[in-house]
Amino acid sequence: MFDYLIAGAGFAGSVLAERLATQLDKKIIIIDKRNHIGGNAYDYYDENGILVHKYGPHIFHTNSKKVVDYLSKFTEWIPYFHKVLAVVEGKKIPVPFNLNSIYELFPQKYANKFEEELIKTFGYGQKVPILKIRETSNSELKFLAEYVYDNIFYGYTLKQWELKPEELDPSVTARVPIYVSRDNRYFQDTYQLMPKEGYTKMFERMLSHKNIKILLNTDYKEIIDIIKFNKIIFTGPIDEFFNYQFGELPYRSLVFDIQSINSEYYQEVGTINYPNNNDYTRITEFKYITGQHSKNTSIAIEYPMRFELNGNLIPYYPIPKKENNELYSRYLKEAEKVKNVIFCGRLADYKYYNMDQIVARALNIFEKEIFL
Ligand code: FAD
Ligand code: UDP
Repeated sequence: MFDYLIAGAGFAGSVLAERLATQLDKKIIIIDKRNHIGGNAYDYYDENGILVHKYGPHIFHTNSKKVVDYLSKFTEWIPYFHKVLAVVEGKKIPVPFNLNSIYELFPQKYANKFEEELIKTFGYGQKVPILKIRETSNSELKFLAEYVYDNIFYGYTLKQWELKPEELDPSVTARVPIYVSRDNRYFQDTYQLMPKEGYTKMFERMLSHKNIKILLNTDYKEIIDIIKFNKIIFTGPIDEFFNYQFGELPYRSLVFDIQSINSEYYQEVGTINYPNNNDYTRITEFKYITGQHSKNTSIAIEYPMRFELNGNLIPYYPIPKKENNELYSRYLKEAEKVKNVIFCGRLADYKYYNMDQIVARALNIFEKEIFL
């Protein structure tokens, strides 16, 4: 007899399993249909001894001391500041687009003017979403905004989502704002760290407890009638849980072409974005991020794909836009009616969560809904 059946051994499921077992002595069975724990954060050492992220590069960054303190029980860290360049007109310029990007692209005279106008209008150090800066009436800034929209956002977003930037919830492109700064880092969070021995090792430590049984290669539906439990924590897609009764929620998928390259380095920084040409959106070189030294290197090329039910692809991204959020609200109403099931996860909540956000959400659920 288990207290909790947890469907999904990613961040959401593993944090809740760990808290329930260690803090409340609950008996847990955590089930994943994949052949490993860790969900999309799963990593492994490849033949070059490089730690590779199977489901795309996962860079940990947060402003939450609480989340860092919690995860630090299960891992040591290495510092890492992610850098991204985007190929624009044959040049590689810093992204988020910032003052340095301007000087790489425009003659000094124009660059000076753009810098002056940006600082005067928004202030040094400010972050301005592309969809907001496009609304400006200042003619110099309007020119710059259109240039950045056309060369950084339009093509990339069309590839990634099959939608134009303005067809998505503004929060999506606001993740990568125009940054009135000379700071070339992709993130400015207080804590920018990578787990020293990788995410998988961290998950192993989280789930290593006598009260936690792990069952892999299994869809929770296969065994739900066979084993006894009191409550479910569901971290998979919420529409799947309700048998798509209101219709399918849309998701985006990706295919990762992970390659081993016979040279010490492949590119200048962790990630290079290709907003304008090619079928792929970005190429990541793992050793920059995960910190190994090797005479070879390993990269992942990301090809965006449409997610279709009953295909082979994994639903990686909810697609934040009005009608999808409305459909999700109908599922949420159903979820609120079901007793003894807790929904928590990027797909269970249909929210574009980063890792720190889902850890915070799981800790919050534990503290507010379960513990009290
Ligand atoms: P998941 O990790 O998806 O775990 C859910 C688990 O549930 C999966 O293992 C799945 O197999 C299992 N499952 C689903 N349905 C069932 C079922 N019916 N039965 C059994 N098991 C089931 N975040 C960052 O902070 N930084 C990054 O750099 C970053 N990069 C990302 C890059 C990509 C390409 C993607 C897709 C995401 C990235 N993220 C990043 C987000 C991060 O992956 C998520 O925030 C996090 O993994 C969410 O955890 P989760 O537990 O909600 O979901
Ligand atoms: N984006 C873009 N060009 C870029 C980088 C990002 O248009 O060079 C847009 C695109 O719509 C992307 C979104 O900003 O999906 C969020 O980017 P982020 O790097 O946060 O995406 P993730 O790492 O979550 O895939």
